[in-house]
Amino acid sequence: MLNIVLFGPPGSGKGTQAENIIGKYGLKHLSTGDLLRAEIAGQTELGMKAKKIMDKGELVPDEIVVGMIEKRIVSEKDPEGFIFDGFPRTVKQARALDEMLASQNTSISLMISLDVDREELINRLIKRGKDQGRSDDNLETIENRIRVYEEQTTPVMNYYEQQGKARKINGIGSIEEIFIHIVNVMNEK
Ligand code: ADP
Repeated sequence: MLNIVLFGPPGSGKGTQAENIIGKYGLKHLSTGDLLRAEIAGQTELGMKAKKIMDKGELVPDEIVVGMIEKRIVSEKDPEGFIFDGFPRTVKQARALDEMLASQNTSISLMISLDVDREELINRLIKRGKDQGRSDDNLETIENRIRVYEEQTTPVMNYYEQQGKARKINGIGSIEEIFIHIVNVMNEK
């Protein structure tokens, strides 16, 4: 199996590149942000709880996102592999993911990190807020999401570096150019 963690700050293009990767490699896309937004759309109890946290730009508790991912991993029959997008966002989540995959006799193949500077992230997210109306794409929440990323999520990079699995890619450029860099890194595997 080919299991990829697509990593990077909010607005770095993880969702866009995940779609490209799926198109080429036929992996199953697991985005915790999308799963949480589906709960909100379905007005479930979990969704209502998550919305309050997401609108502030904070992280939803580890148990919740780990539980959502676990349900998907175990229910998938003979997958070619998974692409994890927006997960793991804490070292605790990264450890839980390793355990879940080990119980399915598989593991993370590669972590691909999209590198984009803060100013560009803020510009992209404000534009997305205008185009798509996502309630967490406003300046105050965007700044908090970037702060939360720096404080709680960047340690996940070290976690995969220690395993020799982390690869950094320049996330500025055209979608096609960035995808070519991703494919080059994936071809190493
Ligand atoms: P972005 O990467 O642009 O912030 P996401 O859709 O990945 O967008 O995440 C949106 C929000 O959903 C996050 O700010 C957070 O509140 C919540 N969320 C998503 N994934 C996780 C996760 N793995 N752990 C905790 N919270 C999460």
